[in-house]
Amino acid sequence: MGRLHRIGIGILVLLLMPALSGCLSGDGILDVSGNRGIPGSLTLACLDDSKYTSMVIEIDYEPGYLPESTSTDMLKQRLESVCAKPMGISFVFTETDFSIEDTWSANDVRELGDEAKSSSPQSGSTLTWQILFPAGTYDDTSVLGVAVDASTVAIFKDSIDEAENIFRRPSAEKIENSVLVHEVGHLLGLVNTVYTSPVDHEDSSHPGHSNNEDSVMYWAIESTSIANFFDNDLPTEFDSDDLNDLSGLADGSISCTDQLWRP
Ligand SMILES: [Zn+2]
Repeated sequence: MGRLHRIGIGILVLLLMPALSGCLSGDGILDVSGNRGIPGSLTLACLDDSKYTSMVIEIDYEPGYLPESTSTDMLKQRLESVCAKPMGISFVFTETDFSIEDTWSANDVRELGDEAKSSSPQSGSTLTWQILFPAGTYDDTSVLGVAVDASTVAIFKDSIDEAENIFRRPSAEKIENSVLVHEVGHLLGLVNTVYTSPVDHEDSSHPGHSNNEDSVMYWAIESTSIANFFDNDLPTEFDSDDLNDLSGLADGSISCTDQLWRP
């Protein structure tokens, strides 16, 4: 029964794969332990404080790939504005040798992320999300960042450097700022990955993304073609539709699926 069930899910995931390719990889559900979830499966754990009162963002970076402080400062501010964490949101930085220098698959991100993890995502009253900053690129080289399950993101700085044009408008630093907030936005379930918004703001040709180019959840934020869409002013914030979705999920007025934890 369990085996048949898993095969069933496998076929379903294969059918869904084209829609989920790109920066949002939804096949984390195939993990052996069955509890990785999909991007958005720990949304309620972040938005609610009845169990998880603090949050840690674990940054595991290859030597030379430490994120910009402007990126992590911005992410902290964005998370503090939407997540209920009375005991605070803190960052833990660990230099890590991932031993992959060329291309990463979504499974590489999960497996090497697991090896590097210093804490499980749900531990006591602390929710931990992990962000890898590895050397190399994603196997789809047009992707700047990827969210692979409920708590794991990878940001590809080599591809971000490639995406910067000779005018440095936008600069690699600004691109990294936006890509980091964008990928963590996927861990928050944006847009429509674990709920259906009452407002029609999902881009039908880029599932999981906002159709508003002023939202950090606009699809091109994750793409190496980012400089073709924006000059120096990249969106760095969730727009009002994104924020209203998160408020509705937090107060229960929008129902939420695929959760690893519920209040
Ligand atoms: Zn995305």
